[in-house]
Amino acid sequence: MATYTVHAGHAKDGNSYSGAAGYCKESVEDRLIKDAVVKYLRAAGHTVQDCTVDQGQSQSGIITEIKKKINSCTGATANISIHLNASRKASVDGKIKGVECEVYSNTGQTSEMANRICKKIGALGFTNRGVKERTDLGVLKGITNGGVNILVECFFCDDEDDYKFYQKIRPNAIGQAIAEGILNQNIKPQTGWIEQSEKWYFYYEGQPMTSSWIHDARGNWSYLTADGTAVMSGWQEIDCKWYYFDSNCYMQASEWIEYKGKWYYLQDDGSMATDCYIKSKDKDIYYWVNTDGVWMPEWNTSKPNTSKYRVLRG
Ligand SMILES: [Zn+2]
Repeated sequence: MATYTVHAGHAKDGNSYSGAAGYCKESVEDRLIKDAVVKYLRAAGHTVQDCTVDQGQSQSGIITEIKKKINSCTGATANISIHLNASRKASVDGKIKGVECEVYSNTGQTSEMANRICKKIGALGFTNRGVKERTDLGVLKGITNGGVNILVECFFCDDEDDYKFYQKIRPNAIGQAIAEGILNQNIKPQTGWIEQSEKWYFYYEGQPMTSSWIHDARGNWSYLTADGTAVMSGWQEIDCKWYYFDSNCYMQASEWIEYKGKWYYLQDDGSMATDCYIKSKDKDIYYWVNTDGVWMPEWNTSKPNTSKYRVLRG
């Protein structure tokens, strides 16, 4: 499995130096396309470093920061910079201007990969403008991590024909096309766990699952947050209830846990018990947990007022 770096060109929308704008903003769409490239490369089992930089003091400062991130990722096979093109000639002529790739030198593996990316995006319906040599672009120079460097100008953000077509195609398809061009293979949707930078993700048919519970055949439950990372080693609030996950990303249930010197009880469904008594498994004692779920030992009792308070079997 290989390593790749991918970044969206320019600062994030709302900051200075956020790139071109036309019918859409480069800094918005390039991030959506970048995320899709990352997703598909990871889904194919590769390691991806996202080297996007959201803000900086100057355009060249942002490029310097991006290159620092890229160069710290040694042994990368390729470094991919995602952009949208702009021409300032935004006439509606019924012609899609389309995709091109910029490279420092149009030779060898760089040329092969860049041509594949152009072809794949072209196959979606964008005109393939081909691979162009650009020795003036800072992001294509001074990269020392061993990878080939390709800047993808996906389409023209200031061409109405391009933009209308992009609205139909959507960033996901362009991201998949770029990933397939990089890898020189069609990406099959994958299902399973994927580890990236010590975080775990779960993919279902090529898509990372988000904001959802999953369980394995042994009945271990895990939770994928809004950004797709599985909750690991700690508490997570989900739908107004608190859950605790171990270092394997498994939800804990039906047990007491000690956390920062306090004890909490996790119910059968994993949610933290609050405002109730927990009946001891082996003793004739009922333990009270308060609104925050914390065991209050001073309120241990053998005769709880069950007409007034809830009791759980520990
Ligand atoms: Zn750009």
